[in-house]
Amino acid sequence: MNKSDDENLRPATKLVQGGRRPEWTGDPRLGGGVVNPPVWRASTILYDNVADLEARGHATHDKLYYGRRGTPTVWALADALTGMEPGAAGTLLYPSGVAANSAGLLALLAPGDHLLMVDSAYEPTRAFCDGLLARYGVVTTYYDPLIGAGIADLITPKTRLIFLESPGSLTFEVQDIPAITRVARERDVLTMLDNTWATPLLFPALAHGIDVTMMSLTKYVGGHSDAMMGSLTATRAVWPRLRSTAYQLGQAVSPDDCALMLRGLRTLDVRMQRHGDNGLAVASWLAERPEVGRVLHPAREDDPGHAIWSRDFSGASGLFGFTLKGADIAARTRFIDALSLFGIGFSWGGYESLVVPSNPVRTATAWTDSDPLVRLSTGLEDPADLIADLERGFAAR
Ligand SMILES: *Cc1c(COP(=O)(O)O)cnc(C)c1O
Repeated sequence: MNKSDDENLRPATKLVQGGRRPEWTGDPRLGGGVVNPPVWRASTILYDNVADLEARGHATHDKLYYGRRGTPTVWALADALTGMEPGAAGTLLYPSGVAANSAGLLALLAPGDHLLMVDSAYEPTRAFCDGLLARYGVVTTYYDPLIGAGIADLITPKTRLIFLESPGSLTFEVQDIPAITRVARERDVLTMLDNTWATPLLFPALAHGIDVTMMSLTKYVGGHSDAMMGSLTATRAVWPRLRSTAYQLGQAVSPDDCALMLRGLRTLDVRMQRHGDNGLAVASWLAERPEVGRVLHPAREDDPGHAIWSRDFSGASGLFGFTLKGADIAARTRFIDALSLFGIGFSWGGYESLVVPSNPVRTATAWTDSDPLVRLSTGLEDPADLIADLERGFAAR
């Protein structure tokens, strides 16, 4: 058995061993192997003869066929991510997180179907539902992130999928995922989760009843702000549908980018601990500041999502939000512009801290807080320096 297939290994060990199969890292003719799966770049694959070409035409995985179907570098990353999700049958890789979300929704929904989408979803996910999915005849109903088992009341005979994201983008509400997946299973509805914030390290989604879990690998898995990719990891029942849709859409990723993602994955456990510690240290300092209205961080005891978060998650990442009490948009701009260690930029999960102004979009629920919202991605710096930077921001406000 391959080391990365050992279900008894703990997550941090799986991150180190995953995808390093001897057939991908070594060559028996050379008598040894390398540590990292090499970068296999390919479009064309050469066959020994016509019979070989015809036999491999039906191969779907783990056999070299054509560049678009992947090479060992791509399979190594997919294999390592599958190993992180107990109960998973496989992982598909996409050129971005948005591509992964869109491909999953397309694979699981057909014209006439009904989709339940969480109201706190990442904005481009909403845009896909309101745009291409609507054009394609799928009806989306947005639901309150705090609905829990009450989701049952929104399920119709046409409902095929419930999409979750927890904590929610920008506003960090924690969903009662086990309550929702229980209802979904009873009613024969599939569930898909955007698990970018937690990764399987802090929340193994399939073990909590989710059918398809998505990650923007661009964020914590890559970890170094230099590559984009997304993943879907699924149960045995759903995986073949995802795979055939990905093949039809021609979704393929670069082996060079997979090598970067694999490099990030090996250190995810230690980075995540530091991101979590830094985030909580900064959040706790902010909570004491007179300039701050609310801190939106589920690992804090005063957060409304804290009870569910501490029941279901084994830790926090470094992304959270806060409001500026009584400030207007101009004051928020002055605050952000005065920061120097927090770079102003989208994305998150890299080693460097980032800040963005955020403006939640809601349709099923109302975002009633009138104070302007700020989102921080705390990186791996010394938290005392991050706090000093924020203090300079408050002085400028
Ligand atoms: C960034 C992000 C995505 C999209 O990922 P990309 O790799 O940037 O396309 C999806 N979901 C969430 C929650 C994100 O923050």
